[in-house]
Parts: sequence; C-alpha cells; structure tokens
Amino acid sequence: MRRPTTLIILLCLRLTSPTSLTLTEAFLSGRSVVGGAAQITKSLSQLSSQSNPTTEGVLDLCVIGGGVSGLVAAITAAETSSKTRQSSSHPLSILLLETSDALGGRIRTDTSDGYILDRGFAVFVEDYPTSRRLLDYDALDLRQFSPGAMVKLFGHDGFLTKVSDPRRRHQDALMTLFSPVCGILDKLRLLPLFITVLTKSVDELFTMTETDAYSCLRSTYGFSDDFINTFFAPFLEGIYLTPLHYQSSRMLHFILKMFAGGNASLPRGGMRAVVDQLSDRAVGLSVNIQYESRVVKIKEVPLTSGCDGQAGQYSVEVESRSNGIQIIQARTIVVATDVDAAQSLLVDLRTIETSLSEELPPQRSVGCIYYAFQSPAPVIDPILILNGEGGRDTTRRNTKDYPINNVCFPSRVVEGYAPNGYELCSVVILENALAEHGNDNNSLDKAVRIQLATWFPDLSSDIIDETKWIRKEMYVMKNAQPANYHRGRDGCANVNGGRDCLTFRGESLPAGIFVCGDHMATATLNGALESGVNAGHAVVRVVSSTAIVELTSSYNIKA
Ligand SMILES: Cc1cc2nc3c(=O)[nH]c(=O)nc-3n(C[C@H](O)[C@H](O)[C@H](O)COP(=O)(O)OP(=O)(O)OC[C@H]3O[C@@H](n4cnc5c(N)ncnc54)[C@H](O)[C@@H]3O)c2cc1C
Repeated sequence: MRRPTTLIILLCLRLTSPTSLTLTEAFLSGRSVVGGAAQITKSLSQLSSQSNPTTEGVLDLCVIGGGVSGLVAAITAAETSSKTRQSSSHPLSILLLETSDALGGRIRTDTSDGYILDRGFAVFVEDYPTSRRLLDYDALDLRQFSPGAMVKLFGHDGFLTKVSDPRRRHQDALMTLFSPVCGILDKLRLLPLFITVLTKSVDELFTMTETDAYSCLRSTYGFSDDFINTFFAPFLEGIYLTPLHYQSSRMLHFILKMFAGGNASLPRGGMRAVVDQLSDRAVGLSVNIQYESRVVKIKEVPLTSGCDGQAGQYSVEVESRSNGIQIIQARTIVVATDVDAAQSLLVDLRTIETSLSEELPPQRSVGCIYYAFQSPAPVIDPILILNGEGGRDTTRRNTKDYPINNVCFPSRVVEGYAPNGYELCSVVILENALAEHGNDNNSLDKAVRIQLATWFPDLSSDIIDETKWIRKEMYVMKNAQPANYHRGRDGCANVNGGRDCLTFRGESLPAGIFVCGDHMATATLNGALESGVNAGHAVVRVVSSTAIVELTSSYNIKA
C-alpha cells in the first residue's frame, strides 16, 4: 500500500561545497547489510530534510534487485571504477534496492531448530568459471557430494543402483559397468558424449548447433529412450526444472562438463554463504543497500547541465515499507531482477514501450519438501538420488502419485544441515507434479511419503509417520529459472558469457540502463554472476568515460 506522503530524495554525490560533503558523509554512514533498511532509510531521510529538494544531485548507479547478479554488478562497478579513476576522485555512489527483507533473491537459506534449509534444493557447482573467479572457495568451506548419482529403478523397490564416473571413482567402475540402469550399448554411447564435453572448451560447446536436449541425446548420441527416461531426464530436469524437449543441447553439454570436471558441493553454512560473501564485499566497497524497497517505475528525466552527457538521467520510484514512496535519481541503472520483473519495469520506458509485447518464454517453478528425522539416514553416501522409475512407465515420475524427481540427504554432505543425531531429507518436486496437487500441500506430502516408503522399505513406517519424519518446510519457488530453450525462440537463457547488457530481448535500451540476471546469460548461478560482471563493467564505461582495463585478476581472490 502506498502511503500518501511522497518523499523526494535528491542525493548530492559529486559535491564540492563543505555542506555537501557533510551530506555525502551522512549518506555513506548509513550503510549496513543486516538491519540495513532501517539505517539507510534514516540517512536518506536526514538528507532529504537537510537538503533543498530542488537541488540537483544524482547517484552514479542504482541497482534494482539484490540477488547475486545485482550484488556482483554493484561490486564490479565499485571495484572497476576504483581501479580506473584517479585517486582524487570520489568512489562511485551506488545504491542497491531490494524488495524483500534480505539479499540473495533465489538463493536464500532459513535456519530452523538447528536445521539449515536452503529455499529449494540447490548445489554449488565448483567448476563454474565465473564462480571460480569471483568467490573465495576456502571461505565457503565447501563439502563435496560423491560424484555420480544413485538411481531408483522401476520394479526394484528397496534397491538403488549407482551411476558413477569411473575416471573419478575407480572403486565404482565395476558397479557402474554392471548397473541395470542401462544396457552395454548405452554405456558405450556415453564415451563420445564425455569426449565431447571433456575435450571442448565451454566457449566451443556454446558454438555447437543448438537443438533441444532430448533430440541431442536421442539423435546425436543415439541413447535409448529407456536410458534417457531413467537417468538423463531426472538428472537434467532436476537442474533445469523442465522436460528435456524444453532444454538446450548447449546447456546439456555445459552442465555435463561442469559435473565431469569438478565437484558439486554445499557450503558449510548453506547456500546463503555465497550471498553473505558477496554482500560483505559490497558493503566493504561502500555500496548502500536498502531493503523492503520495491521499484515500481523507472522514468527518463531531461539531462541536467551537471551531467556529462554520457549517461542518461533517471528517476526511480521506490515503494518502501518504512518511507512510502521515494524518488531516487541516478545516472545509470542496472535492472537485476528476474525476467518478468525486468520486463514490466522496462516496458514503461518510452523507447522500448512498443517492442516487448511478445509473451516471454515461461519461467519454471519447483517445489522442495524437507523432512527431519532421527539418524541413521537410509543412504549414508553424500550423493544425489534420482527417480528413474519413469524408464518404461512414464506415469511414475512427476505425476500425482509419483511426484518425486530427486532426493538428497544434505546432512550427509554437510553435517551442520541437521543437529547431532538427526538427518535432513530434501525432496524435489517439479511443476507437473506440483500442478497435479494444486495448492494442497498435505496431499503432496502424503504422495511423497508413500513413494519414498517404497524406495526405503526398511524405514517405511517411520517415513509414513508424521511424528517420526517431520515435515520441516515445503517451499514452492515460482519463477525459479528462466527458460533455457523454447522451440528455438530468442531470449532464452543459454548464452555463454552473457548477452549484451545494453539490450533486452533484442531491443536497445536507453543510454545508462543495463540489464543483468540469469535470464541474460545461462539459467544458472554462473550465468547470474557473469551477467552481473558485464553490467558492472558497462556502468563504469559510461560513468567514468575512462577506458576499461581488463581487471579479471582483481576478481581472483585466491592467487
Ligand atoms: C530452488 C532453486 C534451486 C536452484 N539451484 C541451482 C543450482 O543448483 N545451481 C545453479 O547454478 N543454479 C541454481 N538455481 C538458479 C540460481 O539460483 C539463479 O539462476 C540465480 O540465483 C539468479 O540470480 P539473479 O540475481 O539473476 O536473480 P534473483 O536471484 O531472482 O534476484 C533478483 C532480485 O531482484 C529483486 N526484485 C525483483 N523485483 C524487484 C523490484 N521491482 N524492486 C526491487 N527488487 C526487486 C528480487 O527480490 C530478487 O532479490 C536455482 C534456483 C532455484 C530457485
């Protein structure tokens, strides 16, 4: 609800008078991450009451959205500008606006009674190139999954078969060779697939002809439908949240390369450790963060004499719980929201208002149920477990009675995910199965328990008993991921390195407006990070008019 008072806040940032300097200091002193909403709101209010509302003053950069892409855009802009500007000039003034009460966007983690609950099951893929450059892996204290996966096959109740990578786990070579997950021909067909992903660079994989993932597996590599449905479908659908016909062959090759070359892991403190690391870094660079502040409109305003003509000038209308409506002015804007929110903010801009009428490819939803129970876990190995029951009978996966796509016991990967003596089970449910249960969480929970009980018959009575396997939380994430292939339509998230951040869905944006987010690159954490880097560099190019030097090394925390 909008409050009746409209607060006009003009921030003076390229200031020369002593009074202005005091105002800038007041602004900068309000930064904080935890409880930042209250603190920064206070300093913004102080500013507005002290300054003449008609005084010209604009931020260098306003970032809309505090997911990982927005944080990285802010960090990159701040770090790059500090390297390229003269020592006498001011650091960039950067404000990041986040609509919710915390940073992270789609990467959030809750804690409850000693359990760590990522909002939706996620894994940290260590080989993502931009993650490696940007993040301090030692500080994340990563704990690895076992390579490969266990598969629950149709008709094999109480038995899981292992599919492993013999290069990385020699001890599993025989088990994998004789696994009933597929016949010898399919096993042999894995060879050319793995040669492709291991010998080609990421860049090369993204230049290969693109088809949907099913056609690629079936026609290019010749895998049987049975093996595709038993293994590839639950594995890849658990990652890209959509049937193989709606996945890109580029994304298939990319993710297989990431898994074949490196580890999947979880940070010791849960996935939020990634966000905490980035937000600490942003705050250290004087990025101001304002929470519970939803941007409702971006408007172009006529350029003032104070501007150097390279950026635009924009007013950003922000609805904030504590301050009602604020108007913030900025020379550059990075829209770092999910694709739907980006579209609705950008469509209002004069220059592109007529061009974005075509419907967006649908984003994908996913559900995750967490169960807490007393040790031991039915599977001790820290490994992903796939529902391969849909091999011959495709009604046994992602349906009303068989809703499970994949299962994991995160407490086997990182002990701290559950208190001593207890375990945590996470069950992933894809959108078909979610839809079949409507909003009836109890009906979904019941179907999951019945299916799980057949997987682990020794524990079946505990699994069915709601006082023994306690449902800790059920998350349903709408807009969990942008489409990565949609019958060849443009605008899908399958672009290595990120697409041009000066355009949105092929339309040029007004000067000074940039877009980032996973929908601008690949539908992954890596894509979100790399698009944030691109947008941060673009901002500095505009704001400082200084040639960008290649600063890759400055992101490399580890030597
Ligand atoms: C359950 C789940 C599991 C996943 N698992 C994996 C995985 O294992 N591996 C992997 O690589 N990727 C995974 N992903 C994908 C990955 O998390 C995302 O690609 C990435 O986090 C996207 O980051 P982003 O910054 O682009 O967008 P977001 O995280 O969506 O950030 C956008 C931010 O903008 C804010 N915002 C929106 N509108 C406004 C507005 N009007 N004003 C102000 N703020 C606004 C939002 O609140 C949000 O904080 C998973 C995603 C989900 C949901």
